[in-house]
Amino acid sequence: MAERNRLWISNPLALFTANDHQAPGGLVIENGVIVELLAAGQTPARPVDETFDAREHVVLPGLVNAHHHFHQTLTRAWGPAVNAPVLDWLPALYPVWSRLTPAQLALASKVALAELLLSGCTTTADHHYLFPEGLEQAIDIEVEAVRELGMRATLCRGSINVAGSHNSACVQSAEVILADSQRLAEQYHERDDGAQIQIALAPSSPFAVTRELMCASAELAQTHGLRLHTHLGETPDEQQACIRRFSMRSVDYLKSVGWLGPQTWLAHGIHFNQIEIDRLGAAGVGICHCPSSNMRLASGICRTLQLEDEGATIGLGVDGSASNDTSNMLLEARQALFIQRLRYGAGKITPEKVLGWATRGSAKLLGRSDIGEIAPGKQADLALFKLDELRFSGSHDPIAALLLCAADRADRVMIGGRWKVIDGQIEGLDLAGLIADHRQAASHLAGG
Ligand SMILES: [Zn+2]
Repeated sequence: MAERNRLWISNPLALFTANDHQAPGGLVIENGVIVELLAAGQTPARPVDETFDAREHVVLPGLVNAHHHFHQTLTRAWGPAVNAPVLDWLPALYPVWSRLTPAQLALASKVALAELLLSGCTTTADHHYLFPEGLEQAIDIEVEAVRELGMRATLCRGSINVAGSHNSACVQSAEVILADSQRLAEQYHERDDGAQIQIALAPSSPFAVTRELMCASAELAQTHGLRLHTHLGETPDEQQACIRRFSMRSVDYLKSVGWLGPQTWLAHGIHFNQIEIDRLGAAGVGICHCPSSNMRLASGICRTLQLEDEGATIGLGVDGSASNDTSNMLLEARQALFIQRLRYGAGKITPEKVLGWATRGSAKLLGRSDIGEIAPGKQADLALFKLDELRFSGSHDPIAALLLCAADRADRVMIGGRWKVIDGQIEGLDLAGLIADHRQAASHLAGG
């Protein structure tokens, strides 16, 4: 946008704003920020340098993915884990992941990011908790990949300092974890609107780290203005494990280590009782719903509306590519629509509701007020879809058609006013070359 500082995306087929289908005249972008929404027949208040005719496009805010594990793109459909529930799935995969090299992580990250971007996602979280010998710079590698693709990301510095039966190669001392977390915060965390890279602190789960590390992570996060993230409520037996180890249920434990507040977002959030839902909501904790992963591993169905009613924020995440096994945010929204209808009925779970979770909901989980909506003052992060494929033929409501007819690829994607995807292709990326290198890396990892 630097060379063309005012752009009018004119007269879209449909446009999803905070108030749903308004602004039929389109939107005006100036220096990478949305400055104007236009009513039908209205034209920009001042002359523009360029107009993009969006008559064939459904325009969404760039989708925001609030939970992922990029490295898992190398172990999609991993034979021994294909039919395993989560507690058998992890031990089947950890020995493989523990062999991950820096070059493999770089490729895995690029593949995950490219896949997300092509699905209309402009900002993603990644939860990386593997730091075996030789991979101590994992987050730095991810930063490079994010910058190369030109997306935005909250990179969650994961941690494990309690050895379990399967993850011992990935254990680090609390001292090393905290020193690296502080280094990453100081080196990379951007605080201003339009930030490209942000850092969050993210024990793999509250059971993979000591109580002391949970507390120290919360303190460090507060000092640096970082958010806190972890997995919680994914399996029904987790509460028993929590009682055995800490003599309390998981939400009490979060409270006791300084995590029960709006600075925290949790992946999954399925297995909580009503009292716990009330407390999570009252504390403003965020929940990242991961429907594909939850169905794939038969984990359960998140009680999204009850959590929302009590004050929790709901966002969406694709979760790792070994439990989904794709990184497609628009298909994830479709999955959320369907699984949540099973719980709450069709009338309460609309396409607009689910797209709200996938955009402003996820943005709020990441602590961002500058993205996730098409509104004046927000970053110009947009995903544009065409409805010209066979699967859309005969469709009527364009916004509903995206989810109901299973749109899975954006025609154009813009981040901060710059086109990153044009005609369904990522600008400047040799996708065929990336796929070839990634396949080879996956095969080496499997043979390792
Ligand atoms: Zn996960």
